Amino acid sequence: MGARTGSQFLDGLRRTRREIWVDGEKIADVTAHPKLRGGAESLAALYDRQHEYASECLYKDPDSGELTNVSHMTPRSKDDLWRRHAGLVRLSEASMGIMGRTPDYMNMKFAAFASAPKVWAGADGRNERGARNIVAFQRHLARADVSLTHTIIQPTIDKRTDGKVAGNKVMVRKVSETADGIIVRGAKVLATLAPYADEQTVYPGQPLPADAKEHALAFAIPLDTPGLKFICRDSVAAPGADPFDKPLSSRFDEQDAFCIFDDVLVPWDRVFIDGDIAIYNSLRDTGYHINMVTQSSIRALTKLEFAYGLASRMAELIGDQSPATTEMLGELAAYVRLTANAIELSLEQARERSDGVWFPNGAALDPMRSILPMWMPRVAEIITLIGSHNLLTTPSRAELADPTLRPLIDEMLHGADGATADERAQVFRLAWDFVGSALGGRGFLYERFYLTSAARNKQMLHTRFFDRTRSQALLKDMLSRGRRAD
Ligand SMILES: Cc1cc2nc3c(=O)[nH]c(=O)nc-3n(C[C@H](O)[C@H](O)[C@H](O)COP(=O)(O)OP(=O)(O)OC[C@H]3O[C@@H](n4cnc5c(N)ncnc54)[C@H](O)[C@@H]3O)c2cc1C
Repeated sequence: MGARTGSQFLDGLRRTRREIWVDGEKIADVTAHPKLRGGAESLAALYDRQHEYASECLYKDPDSGELTNVSHMTPRSKDDLWRRHAGLVRLSEASMGIMGRTPDYMNMKFAAFASAPKVWAGADGRNERGARNIVAFQRHLARADVSLTHTIIQPTIDKRTDGKVAGNKVMVRKVSETADGIIVRGAKVLATLAPYADEQTVYPGQPLPADAKEHALAFAIPLDTPGLKFICRDSVAAPGADPFDKPLSSRFDEQDAFCIFDDVLVPWDRVFIDGDIAIYNSLRDTGYHINMVTQSSIRALTKLEFAYGLASRMAELIGDQSPATTEMLGELAAYVRLTANAIELSLEQARERSDGVWFPNGAALDPMRSILPMWMPRVAEIITLIGSHNLLTTPSRAELADPTLRPLIDEMLHGADGATADERAQVFRLAWDFVGSALGGRGFLYERFYLTSAARNKQMLHTRFFDRTRSQALLKDMLSRGRRAD
């Protein structure tokens, strides 16, 4: 089939029965429920958008010949990478980067996974079946244009002992196997997009110790698999709200869910890793982390650009040219430019893997995982500081439409330089929905943790990923100069 339309996406959600709980209610139809409909419609619009911007968002899949979303691409050149980049930018603009887990995020990961079947098979080919399964699954993703969710993090029960994974009876694990597949039990966090997904996946997040074989699993299952349950966080949507009043909450709650596997059968053809710790811990060799940080940096850049535009207009609307505000706007501009620099550099320095598959230079993007979780909360703080009480003096559409109130609002609540009361209310409402609403609060948590915490990312950058050669050489040079002086 290839790239789906919005209505095909919604039909798919309706067809797949799923166990989704939101605010104490088991939701029968996620496309119709007031708390979920806005998100479903925004994602449907995203599926339509790929056709609207087909020259950027779609490519002809060389295997199927079908027009397919660029996020499924296995790039074979630098041009392919730039082509994919243009499509990802277009997709991120659909929600101004506010929806972090649009399906292209997972598509990118699985494209990298399937590009390296040898990693999945193991050096001696002992997991050939798993390797075949991952390749077939990725083909299915691309051809059916599937919406995927995933859970890869161990739930927290007791941080003093959670680190000892072997024997952990909470984290998802294999409990038995049958002729049809493996039975898994336990939980994982946190399935963003679960109500809007067609399938659920589990694969390596953090490395496992050698004795945690039962937890060394990678697999995918349809959302309607018996025993698969999702307990969503409280909705941050604004059911029935006028989009003027709640421009983001009425559209962009992508949801997050605690995922329970209550003795779930995973069919053999959907098992990618079954207890092989060495293969489980080797998946970085597929390059999936580069694709992941590529998509997430592009999405973050769009959000930063949007935030900069929003904050700048807020300042104009209240005639705020103070040094403090101007400095903060410059700070936002710096975040935008630095993020764009990292993305562009990663593409300019793109590399061909030995098998002809191309990746952006991951080293240019790795630091974004440490720095964006700190910049994004600061962005929200800047918008709050510029906005001040103006974030709350925002008549609703109904109040603006009231004939008795309107003349008073026009007289007393217009903007600077002749800006209308409508525009002022609209912009500051948007800002409050961005930083102060329940959706804004969830966005704050998301940006801090969705690619693990900044703390962990910084530690990994220093201990594992950063090339310190030049820093060490400079130090050595300086120290040697000191010795020469002696
Ligand atoms: C909104 C949202 C959506 C998410 N979506 C998904 C999803 O779709 N799929 C998925 O699998 N996961 C998802 N996650 C889960 C996410 O992957 C985890 O929350 C993330 O890995 C962080 O793990 P943690 O919550 O255990 O926090 P931790 O990493 O344990 O961090 C908690 C606190 O401890 C501090 N800390 C932790 N380790 C150290 C250390 N070594 N040194 C110093 N300080 C430290 C951190 O700074 C932080 O303040 C999502 C999370 C959120 C909040």
